[in-house]
Amino acid sequence: MEPVKHTYEEIVLQNTELQIQLEEANDTIDAIRNGQVDALIVKGDDGHQLYTLKTADQTYRVFIEKMNEGAVTLNRDCVILYSNSRFAAMMNLPLEKVIGFKFETFVPELSANKFKELIDTGWNEDCKGEILLTNKDFQLTPCLMSCTTLDLDEGTALSLILTDLTHQKEAEWELKVKNDQLLEAQNAAEKLNYELEDTVRERTKDLLISREHFKLLSNNIPQMSWTNLPGGEVDFYNQQWFNYTGRRYGETAGWGWQQIVHPDDLALTMDKYMTALKTGNIFEVENRYRRWDGTYRWHLNRAVPLKDEKNEIIFWVGTATDIEDQKKEMERKDEFIGIASHELKTPLTSLKGYLQLITSYKKEEIPPVVKQYIEKASVAINKLQRLINDLLDVSKIQAGRLEYAIGEVDLSNLIKNSIENANHIYPQYEFDNQAQPGLRVEGNAERLEQVLMNFINNAVKYSQVNKQIILKTETQDHTVRVSVTDFGIGLSDAQREKIFERFYRVEDKKFMASGLGMGLYISTEIINNHNGKIGVESELGKGATFYFELPRVL
Ligand code: ADP
Repeated sequence: MEPVKHTYEEIVLQNTELQIQLEEANDTIDAIRNGQVDALIVKGDDGHQLYTLKTADQTYRVFIEKMNEGAVTLNRDCVILYSNSRFAAMMNLPLEKVIGFKFETFVPELSANKFKELIDTGWNEDCKGEILLTNKDFQLTPCLMSCTTLDLDEGTALSLILTDLTHQKEAEWELKVKNDQLLEAQNAAEKLNYELEDTVRERTKDLLISREHFKLLSNNIPQMSWTNLPGGEVDFYNQQWFNYTGRRYGETAGWGWQQIVHPDDLALTMDKYMTALKTGNIFEVENRYRRWDGTYRWHLNRAVPLKDEKNEIIFWVGTATDIEDQKKEMERKDEFIGIASHELKTPLTSLKGYLQLITSYKKEEIPPVVKQYIEKASVAINKLQRLINDLLDVSKIQAGRLEYAIGEVDLSNLIKNSIENANHIYPQYEFDNQAQPGLRVEGNAERLEQVLMNFINNAVKYSQVNKQIILKTETQDHTVRVSVTDFGIGLSDAQREKIFERFYRVEDKKFMASGLGMGLYISTEIINNHNGKIGVESELGKGATFYFELPRVL
Protein backbone atom coordinates (compact mmCIF):
# COMPACT_ATOMS: atom_id res chain seq x y z
CA MET A 1 0.00 0.00 0.00
CA GLU A 2 1.21 3.44 -0.92
CA PRO A 3 2.09 5.45 2.13
CA VAL A 4 -0.31 8.34 2.63
CA LYS A 5 1.42 11.62 2.11
CA HIS A 6 0.43 14.47 4.36
CA THR A 7 1.19 18.07 3.93
CA TYR A 8 2.76 20.03 6.78
CA GLU A 9 -0.51 21.82 7.45
CA GLU A 10 -2.37 18.51 7.65
CA ILE A 11 0.11 17.16 10.21
CA VAL A 12 -0.13 20.29 12.34
CA LEU A 13 -3.93 20.02 12.22
CA GLN A 14 -3.79 16.35 13.18
CA ASN A 15 -1.46 17.11 16.05
CA THR A 16 -3.71 19.82 17.37
CA GLU A 17 -6.67 17.40 17.24
CA LEU A 18 -4.77 14.73 19.09
CA GLN A 19 -3.76 17.19 21.74
CA ILE A 20 -7.35 18.22 22.23
CA GLN A 21 -8.37 14.54 22.50
CA LEU A 22 -5.67 13.92 25.10
CA GLU A 23 -6.72 16.87 27.16
CA GLU A 24 -10.32 15.71 26.92
CA ALA A 25 -9.34 12.24 28.05
CA ASN A 26 -7.40 13.61 30.99
CA ASP A 27 -10.30 15.83 31.90
CA THR A 28 -12.64 12.86 31.76
CA ILE A 29 -10.43 10.82 34.05
CA ASP A 30 -10.16 13.69 36.50
CA ALA A 31 -13.91 14.24 36.28
CA ILE A 32 -14.60 10.57 37.03
CA ARG A 33 -12.15 10.57 39.88
CA ASN A 34 -13.66 13.63 41.41
CA GLY A 35 -17.18 12.38 40.88
CA GLN A 36 -18.07 15.09 38.32
CA VAL A 37 -19.28 12.59 35.69
CA ASP A 38 -21.54 9.56 35.93
CA ALA A 39 -20.43 7.96 32.70
CA LEU A 40 -17.35 7.32 30.66
CA ILE A 41 -16.39 6.27 27.18
CA VAL A 42 -13.80 3.62 26.64
CA LYS A 43 -12.26 2.78 23.31
CA GLY A 44 -12.26 -1.02 23.02
CA ASP A 45 -11.32 -3.37 20.17
CA ASP A 46 -14.76 -2.87 18.63
CA GLY A 47 -14.91 0.90 18.82
CA HIS A 48 -15.88 3.31 21.60
CA GLN A 49 -18.16 2.13 24.42
CA LEU A 50 -20.02 4.31 26.89
CA TYR A 51 -20.22 3.18 30.54
CA THR A 52 -22.44 4.89 33.07
CA LEU A 53 -22.43 4.19 36.79
CA LYS A 54 -26.02 3.35 37.65
CA THR A 55 -26.11 4.49 41.28
CA ALA A 56 -23.05 6.54 41.23
CA ASP A 57 -22.87 9.56 43.32
CA GLN A 58 -19.98 11.82 44.09
CA THR A 59 -19.44 10.86 47.72
CA TYR A 60 -19.18 7.24 46.75
CA ARG A 61 -16.54 7.87 44.10
CA VAL A 62 -14.50 10.16 46.29
CA PHE A 63 -14.63 7.52 48.93
CA ILE A 64 -13.35 4.90 46.49
CA GLU A 65 -10.65 7.25 45.28
CA LYS A 66 -9.40 7.85 48.80
CA MET A 67 -9.57 4.20 49.84
CA ASN A 68 -6.47 2.44 51.03
CA GLU A 69 -7.37 -0.55 48.84
CA GLY A 70 -7.02 -0.78 45.09
CA ALA A 71 -10.39 -0.70 43.33
CA VAL A 72 -10.97 -1.63 39.70
CA THR A 73 -13.87 -2.58 37.49
CA LEU A 74 -13.49 -5.04 34.63
CA ASN A 75 -15.60 -5.87 31.63
CA ARG A 76 -16.17 -9.45 30.47
CA ASP A 77 -12.82 -9.40 28.67
CA CYS A 78 -11.07 -8.45 31.88
CA VAL A 79 -10.25 -5.03 30.51
CA ILE A 80 -9.87 -2.44 33.24
CA LEU A 81 -12.71 0.07 32.86
CA TYR A 82 -11.97 1.96 36.01
CA SER A 83 -9.14 2.06 38.51
CA ASN A 84 -8.64 4.20 41.55
CA SER A 85 -5.25 5.84 41.97
CA ARG A 86 -4.34 3.50 44.82
CA PHE A 87 -4.36 0.51 42.44
CA ALA A 88 -2.22 2.41 39.93
CA ALA A 89 0.18 3.28 42.77
CA MET A 90 0.28 -0.37 43.82
CA MET A 91 1.33 -1.23 40.25
CA ASN A 92 3.77 1.66 40.25
CA LEU A 93 2.17 3.06 37.03
CA PRO A 94 0.29 6.22 36.06
CA LEU A 95 -3.47 5.72 35.76
CA GLU A 96 -3.44 5.94 31.94
CA LYS A 97 -1.15 2.89 31.83
CA VAL A 98 -3.69 0.93 33.86
CA ILE A 99 -7.12 1.86 32.57
CA GLY A 100 -7.91 0.12 29.30
CA PHE A 101 -5.35 -2.60 29.91
CA LYS A 102 -6.16 -6.23 30.54
CA PHE A 103 -6.02 -7.09 34.23
CA GLU A 104 -3.98 -10.27 33.49
CA THR A 105 -1.10 -7.91 32.66
CA PHE A 106 -0.69 -7.53 36.39
CA VAL A 107 -1.12 -11.19 37.31
CA PRO A 108 2.04 -13.30 37.36
CA GLU A 109 2.08 -16.84 36.01
CA LEU A 110 2.13 -18.13 39.57
CA SER A 111 -1.33 -16.75 40.32
CA ALA A 112 -2.88 -17.08 36.86
CA ASN A 113 -5.05 -20.10 37.68
CA LYS A 114 -6.21 -18.76 40.98
CA PHE A 115 -7.06 -15.42 39.37
CA LYS A 116 -9.07 -17.09 36.63
CA GLU A 117 -10.93 -19.20 39.11
CA LEU A 118 -11.83 -16.14 41.22
CA ILE A 119 -12.94 -14.11 38.22
CA ASP A 120 -15.10 -16.96 36.89
CA THR A 121 -16.77 -17.32 40.26
CA GLY A 122 -16.97 -13.55 40.75
CA TRP A 123 -19.22 -13.12 37.72
CA ASN A 124 -21.77 -15.41 39.39
CA GLU A 125 -21.40 -14.65 43.07
CA ASP A 126 -19.34 -12.59 45.49
CA CYS A 127 -16.06 -14.21 46.31
CA LYS A 128 -12.63 -13.46 47.60
CA GLY A 129 -9.19 -15.07 47.59
CA GLU A 130 -5.49 -14.33 47.86
CA ILE A 131 -3.45 -13.78 44.71
CA LEU A 132 -0.15 -12.24 43.76
CA LEU A 133 0.11 -9.13 41.58
CA THR A 134 3.17 -8.01 39.70
CA ASN A 135 4.05 -4.40 38.94
CA LYS A 136 6.09 -3.03 36.08
CA ASP A 137 9.34 -3.78 37.90
CA PHE A 138 8.24 -7.42 38.39
CA GLN A 139 7.87 -6.95 42.13
CA LEU A 140 5.25 -9.26 43.57
CA THR A 141 2.59 -7.98 45.94
CA PRO A 142 0.36 -10.39 47.87
CA CYS A 143 -3.26 -9.18 47.71
CA LEU A 144 -6.66 -10.17 48.93
CA MET A 145 -8.97 -9.88 45.93
CA SER A 146 -12.71 -9.44 46.53
CA CYS A 147 -15.02 -9.73 43.51
CA THR A 148 -18.52 -8.30 43.19
CA THR A 149 -20.58 -7.71 40.09
CA LEU A 150 -21.80 -4.19 39.37
CA ASP A 151 -24.84 -3.42 37.27
CA LEU A 152 -24.07 -0.62 34.82
CA ASP A 153 -26.45 0.75 32.21
CA GLU A 154 -24.27 -0.76 29.52
CA GLY A 155 -24.22 -4.13 31.11
CA THR A 156 -22.63 -5.86 34.07
CA ALA A 157 -19.07 -5.09 35.15
CA LEU A 158 -16.96 -6.87 37.71
CA SER A 159 -15.64 -4.81 40.59
CA LEU A 160 -12.42 -5.91 42.29
CA ILE A 161 -11.19 -4.61 45.63
CA LEU A 162 -7.50 -5.37 46.14
CA THR A 163 -6.06 -5.22 49.64
CA ASP A 164 -2.30 -5.13 49.85
CA LEU A 165 -1.31 -7.92 52.23
CA THR A 166 2.44 -7.20 52.22
CA HIS A 167 2.53 -5.82 55.77
CA GLN A 168 0.05 -8.35 56.98
CA LYS A 169 2.09 -11.16 55.41
CA GLU A 170 5.26 -9.76 56.90
CA ALA A 171 3.61 -9.51 60.28
CA GLU A 172 2.14 -12.99 59.81
CA TRP A 173 5.57 -14.30 58.86
CA GLU A 174 7.17 -12.64 61.84
CA LEU A 175 4.41 -13.99 64.02
CA LYS A 176 4.93 -17.42 62.53
CA VAL A 177 8.69 -17.24 63.16
CA LYS A 178 8.02 -16.05 66.70
CA ASN A 179 5.41 -18.76 67.13
CA ASP A 180 7.80 -21.40 65.83
CA GLN A 181 10.46 -20.14 68.21
CA LEU A 182 7.96 -20.15 71.04
CA LEU A 183 6.86 -23.65 70.13
CA GLU A 184 10.46 -24.79 69.98
CA ALA A 185 11.18 -23.23 73.36
CA GLN A 186 8.01 -24.77 74.74
CA ASN A 187 9.00 -28.17 73.39
CA ALA A 188 12.49 -27.83 74.84
CA ALA A 189 11.04 -26.75 78.18
CA GLU A 190 8.60 -29.64 78.13
CA LYS A 191 11.40 -32.07 77.29
CA LEU A 192 13.53 -30.63 80.08
CA ASN A 193 10.62 -30.87 82.42
CA TYR A 194 10.09 -34.52 81.56
CA GLU A 195 13.80 -35.20 82.00
CA LEU A 196 13.76 -33.36 85.30
CA GLU A 197 10.72 -35.26 86.44
CA ASP A 198 12.41 -38.52 85.44
CA THR A 199 15.58 -37.58 87.31
CA VAL A 200 13.64 -36.52 90.39
CA ARG A 201 11.63 -39.74 90.24
CA GLU A 202 14.83 -41.79 89.88
CA ARG A 203 16.55 -39.89 92.66
CA THR A 204 13.56 -40.21 94.94
CA LYS A 205 13.48 -43.91 94.20
CA ASP A 206 17.26 -44.22 94.82
CA LEU A 207 16.92 -42.24 98.00
CA LEU A 208 14.02 -44.35 99.17
CA ILE A 209 15.90 -47.54 98.36
CA SER A 210 19.09 -46.37 100.05
CA ARG A 211 17.15 -45.15 103.07
CA GLU A 212 15.38 -48.51 103.24
CA HIS A 213 18.75 -50.27 102.86
CA PHE A 214 20.21 -48.20 105.63
CA LYS A 215 17.23 -48.83 107.90
CA LEU A 216 17.24 -52.55 107.16
CA LEU A 217 20.96 -52.74 107.79
CA SER A 218 20.95 -50.65 110.95
CA ASN A 219 17.96 -52.47 112.42
CA ASN A 220 19.59 -55.83 111.84
CA ILE A 221 22.99 -55.31 113.38
CA PRO A 222 23.46 -56.21 117.04
CA GLN A 223 24.87 -52.76 117.86
CA MET A 224 22.88 -49.64 118.64
CA SER A 225 23.35 -47.08 115.91
CA TRP A 226 22.42 -43.49 115.16
CA THR A 227 23.00 -40.65 112.72
CA ASN A 228 23.68 -37.11 113.81
CA LEU A 229 23.83 -33.77 112.05
CA PRO A 230 27.07 -31.75 111.66
CA GLY A 231 25.96 -29.63 114.62
CA GLY A 232 25.72 -32.74 116.83
CA GLU A 233 21.93 -33.28 117.09
CA VAL A 234 20.91 -36.90 116.68
CA ASP A 235 18.22 -37.36 114.02
CA PHE A 236 17.97 -41.15 113.80
CA TYR A 237 18.28 -44.17 116.13
CA ASN A 238 17.95 -47.81 115.13
CA GLN A 239 15.57 -50.24 116.80
CA GLN A 240 18.28 -51.61 119.13
CA TRP A 241 18.64 -48.18 120.74
CA PHE A 242 14.96 -48.06 121.65
CA ASN A 243 15.02 -51.70 122.80
CA TYR A 244 18.02 -51.04 125.05
CA THR A 245 17.07 -47.65 126.49
CA GLY A 246 13.33 -48.28 126.65
CA ARG A 247 12.79 -44.66 125.56
CA ARG A 248 10.68 -43.19 122.80
CA TYR A 249 12.22 -41.24 119.89
CA GLY A 250 11.45 -37.76 121.19
CA GLU A 251 13.05 -38.44 124.56
CA THR A 252 16.59 -39.01 123.31
CA ALA A 253 16.53 -37.19 119.93
CA GLY A 254 18.78 -34.14 119.48
CA TRP A 255 20.91 -34.00 122.63
CA GLY A 256 18.53 -36.13 124.74
CA TRP A 257 20.99 -39.06 124.69
CA GLN A 258 23.01 -37.33 127.42
CA GLN A 259 20.49 -38.56 130.02
CA ILE A 260 21.38 -42.15 129.09
CA VAL A 261 25.14 -41.71 129.60
CA HIS A 262 26.50 -42.59 133.06
CA PRO A 263 27.07 -39.27 134.91
CA ASP A 264 30.73 -40.21 135.57
CA ASP A 265 31.35 -40.75 131.82
CA LEU A 266 29.45 -37.72 130.51
CA ALA A 267 32.28 -35.17 130.69
CA LEU A 268 34.72 -37.40 128.76
CA THR A 269 32.02 -38.37 126.24
CA MET A 270 31.07 -34.73 125.62
CA ASP A 271 34.71 -33.71 125.33
CA LYS A 272 35.42 -36.37 122.67
CA TYR A 273 32.10 -35.70 120.87
CA MET A 274 32.65 -31.95 120.63
CA THR A 275 36.26 -32.43 119.50
CA ALA A 276 35.14 -34.82 116.74
CA LEU A 277 32.43 -32.36 115.58
CA LYS A 278 35.00 -29.57 115.49
CA THR A 279 37.82 -31.47 113.76
CA GLY A 280 35.79 -33.88 111.60
CA ASN A 281 37.94 -36.76 112.92
CA ILE A 282 36.45 -40.11 113.94
CA PHE A 283 34.66 -40.04 117.30
CA GLU A 284 35.60 -42.88 119.66
CA VAL A 285 34.90 -43.23 123.35
CA GLU A 286 34.08 -45.94 125.89
CA ASN A 287 31.22 -45.11 128.24
CA ARG A 288 28.34 -46.65 130.14
CA TYR A 289 24.77 -46.40 128.87
CA ARG A 290 21.73 -46.80 131.11
CA ARG A 291 19.56 -49.74 130.16
CA TRP A 292 15.72 -49.70 130.40
CA ASP A 293 16.00 -51.56 133.76
CA GLY A 294 18.35 -48.97 135.26
CA THR A 295 21.59 -50.98 134.97
CA TYR A 296 24.60 -49.53 133.17
CA ARG A 297 26.64 -51.40 130.60
CA TRP A 298 29.93 -50.40 128.99
CA HIS A 299 29.81 -49.48 125.30
CA LEU A 300 32.39 -48.63 122.69
CA ASN A 301 31.07 -45.66 120.68
CA ARG A 302 32.34 -44.83 117.24
CA ALA A 303 31.04 -42.30 114.72
CA VAL A 304 32.37 -41.54 111.25
CA PRO A 305 31.48 -38.44 109.22
CA LEU A 306 30.00 -38.65 105.72
CA LYS A 307 31.45 -35.85 103.60
CA ASP A 308 30.41 -34.32 100.27
CA GLU A 309 32.66 -33.55 97.31
CA LYS A 310 33.60 -30.23 98.94
CA ASN A 311 34.73 -32.14 102.04
CA GLU A 312 31.87 -30.68 104.07
CA ILE A 313 30.26 -33.01 106.57
CA ILE A 314 26.71 -34.05 105.62
CA PHE A 315 26.04 -36.23 108.67
CA TRP A 316 27.66 -38.71 111.02
CA VAL A 317 26.94 -42.42 111.33
CA GLY A 318 27.55 -43.83 114.79
CA THR A 319 27.48 -47.21 116.51
CA ALA A 320 27.57 -48.23 120.15
CA THR A 321 28.88 -51.76 120.77
CA ASP A 322 28.21 -53.47 124.09
CA ILE A 323 31.65 -54.31 125.56
CA GLU A 324 30.46 -55.01 129.10
CA ASP A 325 31.43 -58.71 128.90
CA GLN A 326 34.85 -58.01 127.34
CA LYS A 327 35.47 -55.35 130.00
CA LYS A 328 34.64 -57.83 132.74
CA GLU A 329 36.88 -60.43 131.11
CA MET A 330 39.69 -57.89 130.86
CA GLU A 331 39.28 -56.92 134.49
CA ARG A 332 39.39 -60.57 135.52
CA LYS A 333 42.51 -61.07 133.39
CA ASP A 334 44.18 -57.99 134.90
CA GLU A 335 43.30 -59.22 138.35
CA PHE A 336 44.73 -62.63 137.51
CA ILE A 337 47.95 -61.08 136.13
CA GLY A 338 48.28 -59.01 139.29
CA ILE A 339 47.84 -61.98 141.58
CA ALA A 340 49.98 -64.32 139.45
CA SER A 341 52.90 -61.92 139.18
CA HIS A 342 52.71 -61.24 142.87
CA GLU A 343 52.72 -64.95 143.62
CA LEU A 344 55.65 -65.47 141.21
CA LYS A 345 57.66 -62.71 142.78
CA THR A 346 58.02 -64.40 146.20
CA PRO A 347 59.64 -67.67 145.06
CA LEU A 348 61.76 -65.71 142.60
CA THR A 349 63.14 -63.53 145.38
CA SER A 350 64.07 -66.59 147.42
CA LEU A 351 65.64 -68.21 144.32
CA LYS A 352 67.73 -65.11 143.81
CA GLY A 353 68.80 -65.17 147.45
CA TYR A 354 69.86 -68.81 147.32
CA LEU A 355 71.87 -68.17 144.15
CA GLN A 356 73.66 -65.33 145.87
CA LEU A 357 74.39 -67.59 148.78
CA ILE A 358 75.93 -70.17 146.46
CA THR A 359 78.10 -67.53 144.73
CA SER A 360 79.43 -66.39 148.07
CA TYR A 361 81.28 -69.74 148.48
CA LYS A 362 85.02 -69.60 147.89
CA LYS A 363 86.05 -70.00 144.27
CA GLU A 364 88.01 -73.20 144.79
CA GLU A 365 85.04 -74.85 146.48
CA ILE A 366 82.79 -74.47 143.41
CA PRO A 367 83.69 -76.42 140.31
CA PRO A 368 84.05 -74.06 137.29
CA VAL A 369 81.21 -75.74 135.37
CA VAL A 370 78.82 -75.16 138.32
CA LYS A 371 79.90 -71.51 138.37
CA GLN A 372 78.92 -71.28 134.71
CA TYR A 373 75.49 -72.74 135.50
CA ILE A 374 75.07 -70.25 138.33
CA GLU A 375 75.80 -67.34 135.94
CA LYS A 376 73.33 -68.66 133.38
CA ALA A 377 70.73 -69.16 136.12
CA SER A 378 71.31 -65.53 137.24
CA VAL A 379 70.71 -64.21 133.71
CA ALA A 380 67.49 -66.25 133.46
CA ILE A 381 66.35 -65.07 136.87
CA ASN A 382 66.99 -61.40 135.91
CA LYS A 383 64.98 -61.84 132.75
CA LEU A 384 62.17 -63.48 134.70
CA GLN A 385 62.29 -60.67 137.21
CA ARG A 386 61.96 -58.01 134.47
CA LEU A 387 58.99 -59.86 133.04
CA ILE A 388 57.28 -60.18 136.40
CA ASN A 389 58.01 -56.50 137.11
CA ASP A 390 56.42 -55.53 133.81
CA LEU A 391 53.36 -57.66 134.53
CA LEU A 392 53.05 -56.09 137.94
CA ASP A 393 53.39 -52.62 136.43
CA VAL A 394 50.65 -53.34 133.90
CA SER A 395 48.26 -54.51 136.60
CA LYS A 396 49.14 -51.47 138.72
CA ILE A 397 48.42 -49.18 135.78
CA GLN A 398 45.09 -50.93 135.23
CA ALA A 399 44.22 -50.46 138.87
CA GLY A 400 45.41 -46.83 138.71
CA ARG A 401 48.12 -47.47 141.29
CA LEU A 402 51.39 -46.80 139.47
CA GLU A 403 52.92 -44.49 142.03
CA TYR A 404 56.44 -43.19 142.60
CA ALA A 405 58.34 -40.36 144.21
CA ILE A 406 59.29 -37.29 142.20
CA GLY A 407 62.62 -35.50 142.39
CA GLU A 408 65.13 -33.73 140.16
CA VAL A 409 66.77 -36.01 137.62
CA ASP A 410 70.04 -35.28 135.78
CA LEU A 411 69.51 -36.62 132.27
CA SER A 412 73.19 -37.06 131.35
CA ASN A 413 73.59 -39.24 134.44
CA LEU A 414 70.51 -41.16 133.52
CA ILE A 415 71.82 -41.79 130.02
CA LYS A 416 75.29 -42.67 131.29
CA ASN A 417 73.86 -45.25 133.71
CA SER A 418 71.63 -46.75 131.05
CA ILE A 419 74.57 -47.07 128.62
CA GLU A 420 76.71 -48.75 131.29
CA ASN A 421 73.91 -51.15 131.97
CA ALA A 422 73.37 -51.78 128.26
CA ASN A 423 77.11 -52.33 127.62
CA HIS A 424 77.01 -54.93 130.32
CA ILE A 425 73.98 -56.79 128.91
CA TYR A 426 74.76 -56.29 125.20
CA PRO A 427 78.56 -56.20 124.90
CA GLN A 428 78.46 -56.78 121.14
CA TYR A 429 76.48 -53.49 120.55
CA GLU A 430 78.00 -50.02 120.24
CA PHE A 431 76.16 -47.30 122.23
CA ASP A 432 76.93 -43.75 121.13
CA ASN A 433 76.34 -41.17 123.86
CA GLN A 434 75.37 -37.81 122.34
CA ALA A 435 73.85 -36.31 125.49
CA GLN A 436 74.46 -32.69 126.47
CA PRO A 437 75.60 -32.33 130.06
CA GLY A 438 73.60 -30.50 132.75
CA LEU A 439 70.06 -31.08 131.50
CA ARG A 440 67.60 -31.69 134.30
CA VAL A 441 63.95 -32.68 134.55
CA GLU A 442 61.40 -33.33 137.31
CA GLY A 443 60.62 -36.99 137.72
CA ASN A 444 61.42 -40.41 139.04
CA ALA A 445 64.93 -41.52 137.96
CA GLU A 446 64.14 -45.21 138.27
CA ARG A 447 61.02 -45.02 136.16
CA LEU A 448 62.70 -42.82 133.52
CA GLU A 449 65.59 -45.28 133.35
CA GLN A 450 63.01 -48.04 132.91
CA VAL A 451 61.67 -46.18 129.86
CA LEU A 452 65.14 -45.64 128.45
CA MET A 453 66.07 -49.29 129.02
CA ASN A 454 62.88 -50.34 127.28
CA PHE A 455 63.90 -48.23 124.25
CA ILE A 456 67.39 -49.76 124.35
CA ASN A 457 66.12 -53.34 124.74
CA ASN A 458 63.83 -52.85 121.75
CA ALA A 459 66.57 -51.17 119.68
CA VAL A 460 68.74 -54.24 120.27
CA LYS A 461 65.88 -56.72 119.67
CA TYR A 462 64.80 -55.14 116.37
CA SER A 463 68.23 -54.31 115.00
CA GLN A 464 70.12 -57.59 114.70
CA VAL A 465 72.39 -56.60 111.77
CA ASN A 466 73.46 -53.00 112.35
CA LYS A 467 74.72 -52.85 115.90
CA GLN A 468 75.08 -49.11 116.36
CA ILE A 469 72.64 -47.37 118.75
CA ILE A 470 72.61 -43.62 119.43
CA LEU A 471 71.36 -42.00 122.66
CA LYS A 472 70.85 -38.28 122.30
CA THR A 473 69.38 -35.20 124.00
CA GLU A 474 68.00 -32.16 122.17
CA THR A 475 66.51 -29.04 123.68
CA GLN A 476 63.75 -26.81 122.38
CA ASP A 477 62.46 -23.83 124.34
CA HIS A 478 61.36 -25.33 127.66
CA THR A 479 61.48 -28.98 126.75
CA VAL A 480 64.13 -31.60 126.32
CA ARG A 481 63.92 -34.63 124.07
CA VAL A 482 65.72 -37.87 124.91
CA SER A 483 65.95 -40.32 122.04
CA VAL A 484 67.27 -43.77 121.18
CA THR A 485 68.00 -44.41 117.51
CA ASP A 486 68.65 -47.76 115.87
CA PHE A 487 69.19 -48.76 112.24
CA GLY A 488 67.13 -51.93 112.25
CA ILE A 489 63.85 -53.11 110.71
CA GLY A 490 61.86 -49.93 111.44
CA LEU A 491 58.07 -49.56 111.44
CA SER A 492 55.31 -48.85 108.92
CA ASP A 493 52.84 -45.96 109.39
CA ALA A 494 50.10 -48.35 110.48
CA GLN A 495 52.34 -50.09 112.99
CA ARG A 496 53.55 -46.79 114.44
CA GLU A 497 50.00 -45.89 115.45
CA LYS A 498 49.44 -49.13 117.39
CA ILE A 499 52.67 -50.00 119.18
CA PHE A 500 51.94 -47.92 122.28
CA GLU A 501 48.80 -49.96 123.01
CA ARG A 502 48.74 -52.65 125.67
CA PHE A 503 49.96 -56.11 124.51
CA TYR A 504 50.35 -54.91 120.92
CA ARG A 505 53.08 -56.64 118.93
CA VAL A 506 53.85 -56.36 115.23
CA GLU A 507 52.54 -59.57 113.69
CA ASP A 508 55.37 -60.20 111.28
CA LYS A 509 56.81 -63.66 111.80
CA LYS A 510 60.01 -62.64 110.01
CA PHE A 511 60.91 -60.12 112.69
CA MET A 512 59.26 -61.72 115.71
CA ALA A 513 61.37 -61.33 118.84
CA SER A 514 60.53 -62.43 122.38
CA GLY A 515 58.33 -60.05 124.35
CA LEU A 516 54.73 -59.52 125.42
CA GLY A 517 54.03 -56.05 124.07
CA MET A 518 54.05 -54.42 127.50
CA GLY A 519 57.22 -52.27 127.41
CA LEU A 520 55.95 -49.34 125.34
CA TYR A 521 52.57 -49.39 127.07
CA ILE A 522 54.23 -49.02 130.49
CA SER A 523 56.64 -46.39 129.09
CA THR A 524 53.70 -44.37 127.75
CA GLU A 525 51.99 -44.44 131.15
CA ILE A 526 55.20 -43.35 132.90
CA ILE A 527 55.85 -40.48 130.49
CA ASN A 528 52.18 -39.37 130.57
CA ASN A 529 52.37 -39.33 134.36
CA HIS A 530 55.42 -37.06 134.00
CA ASN A 531 53.35 -34.67 131.84
CA GLY A 532 55.55 -35.53 128.90
CA LYS A 533 55.15 -36.86 125.41
CA ILE A 534 56.30 -40.17 123.95
CA GLY A 535 56.73 -40.90 120.26
CA VAL A 536 58.53 -42.56 117.42
CA GLU A 537 59.91 -41.53 114.05
CA SER A 538 60.60 -44.39 111.73
CA GLU A 539 60.71 -45.69 108.20
CA LEU A 540 60.23 -49.36 107.42
CA GLY A 541 63.62 -51.04 106.86
CA LYS A 542 65.63 -48.00 107.87
CA GLY A 543 65.48 -48.06 111.68
CA ALA A 544 63.59 -46.15 114.33
CA THR A 545 64.02 -43.28 116.78
CA PHE A 546 61.97 -43.63 119.97
CA TYR A 547 61.86 -40.54 122.15
CA PHE A 548 60.26 -38.87 125.12
CA GLU A 549 59.98 -35.14 125.78
CA LEU A 550 59.76 -33.58 129.24
CA PRO A 551 59.63 -30.06 130.61
CA ARG A 552 63.13 -28.83 131.44
CA VAL A 553 64.17 -27.64 134.87
CA LEU A 554 65.96 -24.36 134.14
P1 ADP B 1 57.77 -56.03 123.07
O1 ADP B 1 57.96 -56.67 124.38
O2 ADP B 1 57.01 -56.87 122.11
O3 ADP B 1 59.01 -55.48 122.47
P2 ADP B 1 56.98 -53.28 123.28
O4 ADP B 1 55.74 -52.65 123.86
O5 ADP B 1 58.25 -52.83 123.86
O6 ADP B 1 56.77 -54.83 123.37
O7 ADP B 1 56.97 -53.01 121.74
C1 ADP B 1 55.80 -53.20 121.02
C2 ADP B 1 56.08 -53.53 119.55
O8 ADP B 1 56.70 -52.39 118.94
C3 ADP B 1 57.11 -54.62 119.38
O9 ADP B 1 56.51 -55.91 119.38
C4 ADP B 1 57.73 -54.27 118.05
O10 ADP B 1 56.99 -54.85 117.02
C5 ADP B 1 57.64 -52.79 117.95
N1 ADP B 1 58.91 -52.09 118.23
C6 ADP B 1 59.31 -51.57 119.41
N2 ADP B 1 60.54 -51.03 119.30
C7 ADP B 1 60.92 -51.18 118.02
C8 ADP B 1 62.12 -50.84 117.27
N3 ADP B 1 63.14 -50.20 117.82
N4 ADP B 1 62.16 -51.19 115.97
C9 ADP B 1 61.12 -51.84 115.38
N5 ADP B 1 60.00 -52.21 116.03
C10 ADP B 1 59.89 -51.88 117.35
